[in-house]
Amino acid sequence: MATPIGNAGDITLRALETLRGVDAIACEDTRVTAGLLRRYGIATPLFPYHEHNAARMRPQILGRIADGQAIALVSDAGTPLISDPGYKLVREARDQGLAVYHLPGANAAITALVLSGLPSDRFLFLGFLPHKSGGRRAALEEVRGLRTTLVLYESPQRLADLLADAAAILGPRDAVMARELTKLFEEVRRGSLTDLAAHYAAAGAPKGEVVVVIGPPDAAAEQADAADLDSLLRQALASMSLRDAAAHVATATGQPRKTVYARALELGRTGDSDGTPPDTP
Ligand code: SAM
Repeated sequence: MATPIGNAGDITLRALETLRGVDAIACEDTRVTAGLLRRYGIATPLFPYHEHNAARMRPQILGRIADGQAIALVSDAGTPLISDPGYKLVREARDQGLAVYHLPGANAAITALVLSGLPSDRFLFLGFLPHKSGGRRAALEEVRGLRTTLVLYESPQRLADLLADAAAILGPRDAVMARELTKLFEEVRRGSLTDLAAHYAAAGAPKGEVVVVIGPPDAAAEQADAADLDSLLRQALASMSLRDAAAHVATATGQPRKTVYARALELGRTGDSDGTPPDTP
């Protein structure tokens, strides 16, 4: 079940009733959840369930449920399983035919998306990207062509690096940095990825927790990119084989080689290049 992401009032009546009524509560950090229970005068026993003891604890939890006990699973904040432990527990409980219910509530990704003012009809939650720039850039490359809003979690210390890599790979899309959601110092800062990257490179790590929301590529920018790609390919095809031209333009633009090769093939087929016959990548 979900617990608050900052404002202790963001917990449902059903969640409080359930926390009071279950036999035990599995939580990431017993000190954090004890604070929540204290606030609401709940005395249900707690035990830890986190990435370091999950494999050992899972059979015990499932055994207790199979024996008829009701066990609640909470994370330190927000919705369990969303960049938090719980997925394998739910999967194994389902595999064993045990009843699983979720009590919905707070979640930082959805809160940031709703506040961002960016398109919310299609979005992709990416969680935390790899910490190192190479892995992060590769992950951003994978989603660059998608026409969806992207939602990412990041630590404040890595925020500037994430924004710099996102600006380099995705271009100057509209974006939002949402900080300390539901808390006293909640802040939603909008700007292009380039502007936000420059801001945090200069300002340093902000305080508190952050979510980054990145809008989809805008249609005009996509068309301009496509026109640039075609013109670069035509130039390259004038003096190179199709394979070499695609490799050359892929390196120059940072676009995936497969995509560039497919476009080069199309240009070659429609006779829109120098007529060099297609070869294989
Ligand atoms: N399960 C949680 C949820 O439902 O949102 C997320 C847990 S994840 C380990 C923690 C990350 O969520 C933080 O690093 C931050 O990116 C985001 N987050 C959690 N609470 C937040 C808040 N109040 N304001 C901004 N971001 C928050």
